[in-house]
Amino acid sequence: LSLSLQAKMSRPVQAQRLEGIDKNVWVEFVKLAATYSTVNLGQGFPDFPPPDFLKEAFVRTLSGKSHMLHQYTRAFGHPPLVKILAQFYGKLLGRDLDPMTNVMVTVGAYQALFCCFQAFVDEGDEVIIIEPFFDCYETMVKMAGGTPVFVPLRPKAPKDGKLMSSADWQLDPDELASKFNARTKAIVLNSPNNPLGKVFSRGELELIADLCVKHDVLCISDEVYEWLVYDGKEHIRIASLRGMWDRTVIIGSAGKTFSATGWKVGWTVGPNRLLQHLRTVHQNSVYHCATLAQDAVAQGFQRELELYGKPDSYFIQLPKELQRKRDWLIQSLDAVGMKPIVPEGTYFLVADISKFKSDVPDVPDSDEPYDSRFAKWMVKNKGLAAIPLSAFYSEAHKNNYNHFIRFCFAKEEATLKAANDILQKWKQEKMNP
Ligand code: PMP
Repeated sequence: LSLSLQAKMSRPVQAQRLEGIDKNVWVEFVKLAATYSTVNLGQGFPDFPPPDFLKEAFVRTLSGKSHMLHQYTRAFGHPPLVKILAQFYGKLLGRDLDPMTNVMVTVGAYQALFCCFQAFVDEGDEVIIIEPFFDCYETMVKMAGGTPVFVPLRPKAPKDGKLMSSADWQLDPDELASKFNARTKAIVLNSPNNPLGKVFSRGELELIADLCVKHDVLCISDEVYEWLVYDGKEHIRIASLRGMWDRTVIIGSAGKTFSATGWKVGWTVGPNRLLQHLRTVHQNSVYHCATLAQDAVAQGFQRELELYGKPDSYFIQLPKELQRKRDWLIQSLDAVGMKPIVPEGTYFLVADISKFKSDVPDVPDSDEPYDSRFAKWMVKNKGLAAIPLSAFYSEAHKNNYNHFIRFCFAKEEATLKAANDILQKWKQEKMNP
């Protein structure tokens, strides 16, 4: 007994770099949704299947002649996948890309982001992050020893009677410029943006690009929602602007592109002088991504290259379908007074809960943002799961944007209808208490 007591560890085990990043909103909200929700519009994934051609590609790969597809492939990307990605992005960017040096495959866009921060950020480096942001940017910068520097998109009131659009959330050019200094190593750009659905305009991208060039700063460009843009808007790749190819890493995701988030296939595209360092991180951490999934995604891109710009292309079909779902959800929310901010892209929609705020009892002296308490109350009492917008802000700014929640509308019609039923019933109860 005394030996086993002695054997018990008493030293602190946690590495210092994990300090302050051990609490994560997703763990909490995913669990709440699983426990209480009847309708889950929280976490960002489709509840409809990926397209048949992609599933069929996977089955072909799995059961095909080449049993070598069950083994390791090239560490930096399965050759058929990096080849087709080089071809596809070469076309989009109007430049010749070398599959072996200008493309690297990762375990989802998530690992691509991790590779970037580990490869480029040193102790003391600053990384500019535009708020609201996909939350892992902040923690990944910190884990690399860097300092995140936040700059918010500032909402402008829409014209009378009009719904707010994600385009009404804009950077203040002077404020953005003031964040760049000699310690700035990189800026993270996410267009189309999760959670707002903002699609940055050419003018906004040029503003960012000019500052990157002026201060010799890298751009980590998270473009996982590149195909999900609505109302005829164009997704502009910042790497195509003057002076930017050389300093930009583009990040993409088959999860978002082909509605298969569980496959966890992602990629980076950029100049070799940047990608060579991503390869070093990849080689020494993950090393390799599932061959079968990479092979099937390669076939998916082959199909899309052949159908590029044609009506049957999934990259045309999917946004068309999602735009319809977006408009449905807008209508549902607007009808009950939960003011939607019309997203120009992504499959997320942020709504203003000011009118519903009074439903949830206030807790004086709580430092938990109101929207977070609201979202928890809503899932427990109404069975509807969404994510508070404050989860996409830094600690310092969380309470400035605490009356919004984010819904995901990449859902079957039945799911969206069930959400509408909950909202309508809720409104009736409010009117006849
Ligand atoms: N970037 C953004 C902006 C995202 O929303 C997500 C997924 N929610 C990712 C990256 C991660 O993508 P993946 O699933 O391919 O790792």
